[in-house]
Amino acid sequence: QSPIFDNGSPRKTLVILGSGWGSISLLKNLDTTLYNVVVVSPRNYFLFTPLLPSTPVGTIELKSIVEPVRSIARRAPGEVTYYEAEALDVDPVEKTVKIRSLSSKEEDAVLNLNYDYLVVGVGAQPTTFGIPGVFENASFLKEIPDAQEIRVKVMNNIEKAATLSPSDPERKRLLNFVVVGGGPTGVEFAAELQDYIDQDLSKWMPALSKELNVTLVEALPNILNMFDKSLIEYAEDLFRQEKIELKTNTMVKNVTPTTITAKCGDTTEDIPYGVLVWATGNAPREVSKSLMSRMETQNSRRGLLINDKLQLLGAEDSIWAIGDCTFYPGLFPTAQVAHQEGEYLASVLKKQYKIDQYKWHMLQNPNVAETNKYQTKVEKVQSNIKAFKYSHQGALAYIGSEKAIADLAVGESMYQSAGSFTFLFWKSAYLAMCLSFRNRLLVAMDWCKVSFFGRDSSV
Ligand code: FAD
Ligand code: NAD
Repeated sequence: QSPIFDNGSPRKTLVILGSGWGSISLLKNLDTTLYNVVVVSPRNYFLFTPLLPSTPVGTIELKSIVEPVRSIARRAPGEVTYYEAEALDVDPVEKTVKIRSLSSKEEDAVLNLNYDYLVVGVGAQPTTFGIPGVFENASFLKEIPDAQEIRVKVMNNIEKAATLSPSDPERKRLLNFVVVGGGPTGVEFAAELQDYIDQDLSKWMPALSKELNVTLVEALPNILNMFDKSLIEYAEDLFRQEKIELKTNTMVKNVTPTTITAKCGDTTEDIPYGVLVWATGNAPREVSKSLMSRMETQNSRRGLLINDKLQLLGAEDSIWAIGDCTFYPGLFPTAQVAHQEGEYLASVLKKQYKIDQYKWHMLQNPNVAETNKYQTKVEKVQSNIKAFKYSHQGALAYIGSEKAIADLAVGESMYQSAGSFTFLFWKSAYLAMCLSFRNRLLVAMDWCKVSFFGRDSSV
């Protein structure tokens, strides 16, 4: 793409960090002919996270829920440059981003990109709250390598346990799978794991499958706290029927390679485990922390502070931040929020382009009449940039045994639904939300495959 437009005005450089829900929604909706667009992300694909908990046990194949960035960029009207690199630091004064290419660890792999406008959509990393032993011993469930790691651990433990005598305490430990965090990630994964044990493993290894134990540990009195009370009760009852052990009011304090130490009231309990999945929410990434440390206005530990137009506090003229890397009251770290923010920002950037064009005309014709004419136009477009307004559609979660819960927003009211019919709704909603027709088809085929042949147990 030419660095200047046909009228001679410069084409501004827009750097987008990340290839997740926020950044890809922006890219899909952006008129990429208006900017010199550069996407920087260590992940050269978009990941459809709502179906990630289904992947470690093989309900859904990982390839079915990813879409290459280049395939998305190819469909954009203008040229998009993609760098497979991670952003290390942002200098909001010099307007540069320091990036490191993933293909090499050499010094020359680090370079500085200049930007006119920057969109930070780097998401978040799993939080451990500094609890000792978590990073070393637990698996997270955030990215594709996490899902692969969990799968290997689960399958290996089952095979290893099968070689030990049923009276061996080591066998019992290997077959105790613990999930920490009763938010939707922990709940959906525990449900998928129990489905795999009940629906597949019970056929191949009937005796051993009865020895497997899934435990869900939650610090608060209930799981799924963002859902309506009736749905929480429904999910907790179902977990009890499914024989998933629920340990609520239980806060994990320490983790060793074989044991979790948890506090429940005044008592401290040691829970031996074979596989530990940690899902206790989000923390800012290193690049977000380093950007915050450069600006006095960025004084929250929860994420990048933004205003109601998603502009970064302290760099309102050139940086926007969207999705899980931000903190703004009332906006939760969900795909729904990030997606809507990306859409909104695409429309803002279209207006920003107009403003820049008018400003360029002002510079070309520096007489009073022209300046006043274009200044009025600039002000009109600026006043047209309204604050971001989030429209909550509701929340869905899979809870196992082909049942789901839904807290749906219809107008101003919320409606609750749970059970097998809701599971069909859950399936159709996620199919509809898939990024491409290819994803949609592959996911539908995976579900069909599992209902005919069961899940694949190989690693
Ligand atoms: P992400 O989608 O996480 O994307 C961040 C991007 O930034 C990635 O491409 C990453 O590679 C890139 N990146 C990371 N570091 C750097 C760096 N240094 N430089 C450049 N790029 C970087 N929400 C829902 O609403 N519904 C659901 O059903 C749902 N299910 C979920 C299930 C799971 C298992 C998980 C983990 C989350 C789920 N969520 C769900 C939450 C949802 O996935 C997040 O809110 C959403 O992904 C946030 O979008 P984002 O663009 O901010 O970040
Ligand atoms: P979360 O923040 O929603 O839940 C984490 C849970 O871990 C909390 O209930 C917390 O009390 C518990 N916890 C924290 N420390 C603990 C400890 N030491 N011991 C025991 N329990 C502890 O985290 P999540 O489930 O990873 O979700 C992250 C975000 O992604 C949320 O905004 C969520 O809404 C979204 N998400 C949505 C869906 C969905 O809509 N189906 C699915 C997955 C994630």
